[in-house]
Amino acid sequence: MRKNIVAGNWKMNLDHAAGLQLFAEILNLINNELKGNQEVVVCPPFVHISSLAQLLKANSTVSIGAQNCHHSDAGAYTGEISASMLKSSGASYVIIGHSERRAFFAEDDLVLAQKLDVVLKNELSPIFCIGETLEQRNAGTHFDVIESQLKEAAFHLSDDQFKKLVLAYEPVWAIGTGLTATPEQAQEVHAFIRSKVAEQYSAELANELTILYGGSCNPKNAAELFGQEDIDGGLIGGASLKAQDFVDIIKVFNS
Ligand code: PEP
Repeated sequence: MRKNIVAGNWKMNLDHAAGLQLFAEILNLINNELKGNQEVVVCPPFVHISSLAQLLKANSTVSIGAQNCHHSDAGAYTGEISASMLKSSGASYVIIGHSERRAFFAEDDLVLAQKLDVVLKNELSPIFCIGETLEQRNAGTHFDVIESQLKEAAFHLSDDQFKKLVLAYEPVWAIGTGLTATPEQAQEVHAFIRSKVAEQYSAELANELTILYGGSCNPKNAAELFGQEDIDGGLIGGASLKAQDFVDIIKVFNS
Protein backbone atom coordinates (compact mmCIF):
# COMPACT_ATOMS: atom_id res chain seq x y z
CA MET A 1 0.00 0.00 0.00
CA ARG A 2 1.18 3.52 -0.82
CA LYS A 3 2.52 5.30 2.27
CA ASN A 4 1.23 8.72 3.27
CA ILE A 5 4.00 10.96 4.57
CA VAL A 6 4.06 14.44 6.01
CA ALA A 7 7.61 15.79 6.24
CA GLY A 8 8.63 19.06 7.86
CA ASN A 9 11.62 20.98 6.50
CA TRP A 10 12.81 23.36 9.20
CA LYS A 11 15.48 24.85 6.88
CA MET A 12 18.06 27.01 8.69
CA ASN A 13 15.80 27.93 11.60
CA LEU A 14 15.77 27.40 15.38
CA ASP A 15 18.71 27.15 17.76
CA HIS A 16 19.22 23.90 19.66
CA ALA A 17 16.90 24.64 22.61
CA ALA A 18 14.15 25.97 20.35
CA GLY A 19 14.47 22.93 18.08
CA LEU A 20 14.15 20.52 21.00
CA GLN A 21 11.15 22.43 22.30
CA LEU A 22 9.36 22.42 18.95
CA PHE A 23 10.01 18.69 18.51
CA ALA A 24 8.72 17.92 22.02
CA GLU A 25 5.57 19.95 21.27
CA ILE A 26 5.02 18.05 18.02
CA LEU A 27 5.42 14.65 19.76
CA ASN A 28 3.11 15.78 22.51
CA LEU A 29 0.40 16.94 20.10
CA ILE A 30 0.66 13.75 18.06
CA ASN A 31 0.38 11.74 21.28
CA ASN A 32 -0.51 8.42 19.63
CA GLU A 33 -3.49 10.03 17.96
CA LEU A 34 -2.59 9.19 14.40
CA LYS A 35 -5.37 7.05 12.99
CA GLY A 36 -4.33 6.79 9.34
CA ASN A 37 -1.26 5.04 7.94
CA GLN A 38 0.62 8.33 7.85
CA GLU A 39 4.28 8.61 8.67
CA VAL A 40 5.82 11.83 9.97
CA VAL A 41 9.34 13.00 9.12
CA VAL A 42 10.99 15.98 10.80
CA CYS A 43 14.04 17.42 9.02
CA PRO A 44 15.88 19.79 11.37
CA PRO A 45 19.29 21.39 10.80
CA PHE A 46 22.11 18.79 11.00
CA VAL A 47 23.23 19.78 14.51
CA HIS A 48 19.83 18.90 16.05
CA ILE A 49 19.50 15.44 14.50
CA SER A 50 21.04 13.26 17.19
CA SER A 51 19.29 15.08 20.07
CA LEU A 52 15.92 14.78 18.37
CA ALA A 53 16.52 11.12 17.52
CA GLN A 54 17.12 10.39 21.20
CA LEU A 55 13.59 11.59 22.00
CA LEU A 56 12.03 9.00 19.69
CA LYS A 57 10.58 5.79 21.04
CA ALA A 58 10.99 2.48 19.25
CA ASN A 59 8.29 1.94 16.58
CA SER A 60 7.51 5.63 16.53
CA THR A 61 5.55 6.91 13.54
CA VAL A 62 7.93 9.86 13.61
CA SER A 63 11.31 9.72 11.88
CA ILE A 64 14.14 12.17 11.54
CA GLY A 65 15.47 13.39 8.22
CA ALA A 66 18.33 15.61 7.10
CA GLN A 67 18.03 18.45 4.62
CA ASN A 68 21.08 17.56 2.53
CA CYS A 69 24.25 15.49 2.51
CA HIS A 70 27.52 15.38 0.60
CA HIS A 71 27.77 13.21 -2.52
CA SER A 72 30.95 11.38 -1.38
CA ASP A 73 31.34 8.75 1.31
CA ALA A 74 34.04 10.61 3.26
CA GLY A 75 37.15 12.70 2.76
CA ALA A 76 38.65 16.16 2.59
CA TYR A 77 35.43 18.16 2.20
CA THR A 78 35.67 20.71 5.00
CA GLY A 79 32.31 21.65 6.44
CA GLU A 80 30.37 18.84 4.78
CA ILE A 81 28.30 15.98 6.24
CA SER A 82 28.16 12.43 4.85
CA ALA A 83 25.19 10.09 4.56
CA SER A 84 26.81 7.58 6.93
CA MET A 85 27.19 10.32 9.58
CA LEU A 86 23.50 11.09 9.23
CA LYS A 87 22.57 7.44 9.51
CA SER A 88 24.71 6.99 12.63
CA SER A 89 23.14 10.13 14.18
CA GLY A 90 19.62 8.69 13.88
CA ALA A 91 18.35 10.04 10.56
CA SER A 92 16.37 7.77 8.25
CA TYR A 93 15.50 10.23 5.46
CA VAL A 94 17.48 12.85 3.53
CA ILE A 95 15.98 15.63 1.40
CA ILE A 96 17.84 15.73 -1.92
CA GLY A 97 17.48 18.37 -4.63
CA HIS A 98 15.50 20.98 -2.71
CA SER A 99 15.09 24.02 -4.97
CA GLU A 100 17.03 26.18 -2.50
CA ARG A 101 20.01 23.81 -2.82
CA ARG A 102 19.66 23.85 -6.62
CA ALA A 103 19.43 27.68 -6.71
CA PHE A 104 21.82 28.83 -3.96
CA PHE A 105 24.38 26.00 -4.01
CA ALA A 106 24.34 25.27 -7.75
CA GLU A 107 23.39 21.62 -7.29
CA ASP A 108 22.83 20.12 -10.72
CA ASP A 109 21.43 16.82 -11.94
CA LEU A 110 24.86 15.19 -11.96
CA VAL A 111 25.61 15.90 -8.31
CA LEU A 112 22.04 15.05 -7.32
CA ALA A 113 22.37 11.66 -9.02
CA GLN A 114 25.50 11.03 -6.92
CA LYS A 115 23.72 12.15 -3.77
CA LEU A 116 20.84 9.76 -4.45
CA ASP A 117 23.39 6.95 -4.89
CA VAL A 118 25.22 7.66 -1.64
CA VAL A 119 22.01 8.07 0.35
CA LEU A 120 20.65 4.74 -0.91
CA LYS A 121 23.99 3.01 -0.36
CA ASN A 122 23.76 4.04 3.30
CA GLU A 123 20.22 2.66 3.58
CA LEU A 124 18.58 6.01 4.05
CA SER A 125 15.45 7.08 2.13
CA PRO A 126 15.84 10.06 -0.15
CA ILE A 127 13.04 12.62 -0.41
CA PHE A 128 13.87 13.76 -3.92
CA CYS A 129 12.50 17.21 -4.84
CA ILE A 130 11.61 18.26 -8.35
CA GLY A 131 9.67 21.22 -9.68
CA GLU A 132 9.61 24.10 -12.12
CA THR A 133 10.25 27.83 -11.71
CA LEU A 134 7.59 30.43 -12.42
CA GLU A 135 9.29 31.30 -15.70
CA GLN A 136 9.22 27.66 -16.78
CA ARG A 137 5.55 27.34 -15.85
CA ASN A 138 4.66 30.53 -17.70
CA ALA A 139 6.56 29.28 -20.72
CA GLY A 140 4.61 26.01 -20.57
CA THR A 141 7.77 23.92 -20.21
CA HIS A 142 7.04 22.55 -16.71
CA PHE A 143 6.37 18.97 -17.83
CA ASP A 144 9.63 18.90 -19.82
CA VAL A 145 11.57 20.31 -16.85
CA ILE A 146 10.16 17.73 -14.46
CA GLU A 147 10.74 14.86 -16.86
CA SER A 148 14.33 15.97 -17.36
CA GLN A 149 14.96 16.30 -13.60
CA LEU A 150 13.71 12.74 -13.13
CA LYS A 151 15.63 11.32 -16.07
CA GLU A 152 18.96 13.00 -15.41
CA ALA A 153 19.16 12.50 -11.64
CA ALA A 154 17.07 9.45 -10.81
CA PHE A 155 16.28 7.17 -13.74
CA HIS A 156 19.71 5.55 -13.60
CA LEU A 157 18.55 3.79 -10.39
CA SER A 158 17.54 0.14 -10.47
CA ASP A 159 13.94 -0.85 -9.70
CA ASP A 160 14.94 -1.88 -6.19
CA GLN A 161 16.67 1.44 -5.57
CA PHE A 162 13.95 3.62 -7.09
CA LYS A 163 11.32 1.92 -4.91
CA LYS A 164 13.03 3.43 -1.86
CA LEU A 165 12.59 7.00 -3.07
CA VAL A 166 9.95 9.42 -1.92
CA LEU A 167 9.35 12.08 -4.56
CA ALA A 168 8.29 15.62 -3.73
CA TYR A 169 6.77 17.88 -6.38
CA GLU A 170 7.62 21.39 -5.28
CA PRO A 171 6.81 24.14 -7.77
CA VAL A 172 9.51 26.70 -7.00
CA TRP A 173 7.02 29.57 -7.37
CA ALA A 174 4.97 28.13 -4.48
CA ILE A 175 7.80 27.67 -1.97
CA GLY A 176 7.64 30.18 0.85
CA THR A 177 5.55 32.55 -1.27
CA GLY A 178 2.05 31.86 0.03
CA LEU A 179 1.12 30.94 -3.58
CA THR A 180 -0.06 27.35 -3.45
CA ALA A 181 -0.58 25.29 -6.58
CA THR A 182 -4.27 24.57 -6.97
CA PRO A 183 -5.20 20.96 -6.15
CA GLU A 184 -5.88 20.49 -9.88
CA GLN A 185 -2.48 21.90 -10.92
CA ALA A 186 -0.69 19.73 -8.36
CA GLN A 187 -2.69 16.61 -9.24
CA GLU A 188 -1.94 17.10 -12.95
CA VAL A 189 1.81 17.11 -12.29
CA HIS A 190 1.68 14.25 -9.78
CA ALA A 191 -0.20 12.10 -12.31
CA PHE A 192 2.39 13.05 -14.95
CA ILE A 193 5.26 12.05 -12.63
CA ARG A 194 3.59 8.72 -11.91
CA SER A 195 3.12 8.09 -15.63
CA LYS A 196 6.82 8.76 -16.32
CA VAL A 197 7.84 6.39 -13.52
CA ALA A 198 5.48 3.76 -14.94
CA GLU A 199 7.07 4.15 -18.38
CA GLN A 200 10.61 3.86 -17.00
CA TYR A 201 9.98 1.13 -14.40
CA SER A 202 6.51 -0.41 -14.13
CA ALA A 203 2.92 0.54 -13.41
CA GLU A 204 3.14 -1.43 -10.18
CA LEU A 205 6.19 0.45 -8.93
CA ALA A 206 4.66 3.80 -9.96
CA ASN A 207 1.46 2.99 -8.14
CA GLU A 208 3.31 2.20 -4.90
CA LEU A 209 5.44 5.35 -5.02
CA THR A 210 4.79 8.09 -2.47
CA ILE A 211 4.68 11.52 -4.13
CA LEU A 212 4.47 14.54 -1.82
CA TYR A 213 3.35 18.05 -2.66
CA GLY A 214 5.33 21.00 -1.30
CA GLY A 215 4.78 24.72 -1.58
CA SER A 216 2.93 26.91 0.92
CA CYS A 217 0.96 23.96 2.23
CA ASN A 218 -0.92 24.81 5.44
CA PRO A 219 -3.74 23.48 7.64
CA LYS A 220 -6.32 25.27 5.46
CA ASN A 221 -5.32 23.85 2.09
CA ALA A 222 -3.81 20.47 3.08
CA ALA A 223 -7.03 18.44 3.06
CA GLU A 224 -7.94 19.44 -0.48
CA LEU A 225 -4.42 18.85 -1.77
CA PHE A 226 -4.00 15.49 0.00
CA GLY A 227 -7.47 14.47 -1.21
CA GLN A 228 -6.18 14.29 -4.80
CA GLU A 229 -5.67 10.80 -6.16
CA ASP A 230 -1.92 11.10 -6.77
CA ILE A 231 -0.92 13.30 -3.81
CA ASP A 232 0.28 11.18 -0.92
CA GLY A 233 1.22 13.85 1.59
CA GLY A 234 3.31 16.96 1.87
CA LEU A 235 6.75 18.47 2.33
CA ILE A 236 6.06 21.38 4.61
CA GLY A 237 8.36 24.36 5.16
CA GLY A 238 7.00 27.39 7.03
CA ALA A 239 4.02 25.60 8.61
CA SER A 240 6.29 22.89 10.05
CA LEU A 241 7.79 25.48 12.42
CA LYS A 242 4.46 25.81 14.25
CA ALA A 243 3.69 22.62 16.16
CA GLN A 244 -0.10 22.95 16.01
CA ASP A 245 -0.16 23.79 12.29
CA PHE A 246 2.19 20.91 11.46
CA VAL A 247 0.19 18.40 13.48
CA ASP A 248 -3.10 19.68 12.01
CA ILE A 249 -1.64 18.98 8.56
CA ILE A 250 -0.54 15.47 9.68
CA LYS A 251 -4.01 14.78 11.07
CA VAL A 252 -5.62 15.41 7.68
CA PHE A 253 -4.94 11.69 7.16
CA ASN A 254 -6.94 10.80 10.29
CA SER A 255 -10.21 11.59 8.56
C1 PEP B 1 9.85 23.70 1.35
O1 PEP B 1 10.78 24.41 1.72
O2 PEP B 1 10.07 22.55 0.96
C2 PEP B 1 8.49 24.25 1.39
C3 PEP B 1 7.55 23.55 0.84
O3 PEP B 1 8.35 25.47 2.00
P1 PEP B 1 6.96 26.21 2.31
O4 PEP B 1 6.00 25.20 2.86
O5 PEP B 1 7.30 27.26 3.31
O6 PEP B 1 6.47 26.78 1.02
